Amino acid sequence: MLYWENQMVTFIINCLLITGYALLYTWTRDAKFTSERNRRWRGVYQISLTVIFLALFHFASELRILQEHSPHGFGWTYISFQVGVLIYALYFSKSKRLFWTLAVTLLIWYWWLPGVPNWLPPYVASLLLMYGLQQLGDVLIKRWYLYYSACAIFTIPFYWANFESLEGIDVGWPWEIVTTIIIFMILWQIQYRMLQQRIRQALLLREASTDTLTKLNNFRVFNEDLGTAYEHFHQTESMYALYTFDIDHFKRINDQYGHPMGNTVLERVAVRFNGLMQEAPGTPKTYRTGGEEFCCILFDVDPKSEHAEQVANHLREELSELQFSTRQGERFSITVSVGEALIQDYDQNYMDIYKRADQRLYHSKNAGRNTVTVRGN
Ligand code: GH3
Ligand code: MG
Ligand code: MG
Repeated sequence: MLYWENQMVTFIINCLLITGYALLYTWTRDAKFTSERNRRWRGVYQISLTVIFLALFHFASELRILQEHSPHGFGWTYISFQVGVLIYALYFSKSKRLFWTLAVTLLIWYWWLPGVPNWLPPYVASLLLMYGLQQLGDVLIKRWYLYYSACAIFTIPFYWANFESLEGIDVGWPWEIVTTIIIFMILWQIQYRMLQQRIRQALLLREASTDTLTKLNNFRVFNEDLGTAYEHFHQTESMYALYTFDIDHFKRINDQYGHPMGNTVLERVAVRFNGLMQEAPGTPKTYRTGGEEFCCILFDVDPKSEHAEQVANHLREELSELQFSTRQGERFSITVSVGEALIQDYDQNYMDIYKRADQRLYHSKNAGRNTVTVRGN
């Protein structure tokens, strides 16, 4: 009777342990580490965690066997947990370092396994299955039946080798099979929920950072990127420029053709603007920063001012060539006023460049609109 109580308690405690492993592993993968060292060591943390848990289950099984004074089948359940750890680690990471560390760990395990002289074939089979899990993990995780089938196939070489090693000792097959399935179910639940949560978070983040009408980045991202660019400039001296433009007399378009037409103009301007900035010399990121005001941060830019004038004028000309027509057949076009500024050593904070570009934009407006003002010209 005590045998079963013992088995149950051991099983439950180990279920909690493997759940702890899965959550820790996921945490080390997703944690937003602030220190650069932690970020660099993330992979090492994950690998160490996996090897430590594999070793922990291994030594637990060894101790149980020693305690029982006979190589009784107690050790078997621990193999299911070890296989569970491997599956969890491999489904979630494509790291080559992880693969090779586990390959060496498994080599030691198979080689050590008593009474299995012919361990090479199951070892090679395990390596191939490990490789398969790492490559196909993203697909398998999406369907429960694929996930469970892959798990079942993955266990075969381990179970076969362990079965050989037991030399005919009956470990109580029904119990072992049921516990293995329960372990897979626990891992599936954790893994699948984590995946769903990641997808939801990514969607929310995208929604929070894009402008719904134009699909450009919104002001929140603009503000964040300006701050990051400013810090980066002080660390690496890499220059960036800010272009900002505003559609001239946009209110009249709304008044004359209606608000929906105004929206169409904004959408088309955004697409064209984004396309044009991709051609500019530098790495662009575009934003809708206000109603009919747009910005572009051009990273890694050549600081020569004639480049800025070319880019700004090209933008102004191209946008004025866009043709719009209403349902009633009325045709019209727009003009824009542009301002530009380059990051300067004397800038006191990340917003200074924006203030300068904005002042120049207003200079363009005051100069009669459909004009560009770059660095004072
Ligand atoms: P200026 O040349 O001085 O920039 O004149 P303007 O008429 O373009 O500027 P003003 O700031 O007077 O008007 C901006 C207008 O943009 C007012 C507002 O109704 C309109 N607007 C802001 N956001 C949207 C939007 O999402 N859709 C539409 N259709 N109109 C918008
Ligand atoms: Mg305007
Ligand atoms: Mg405006």
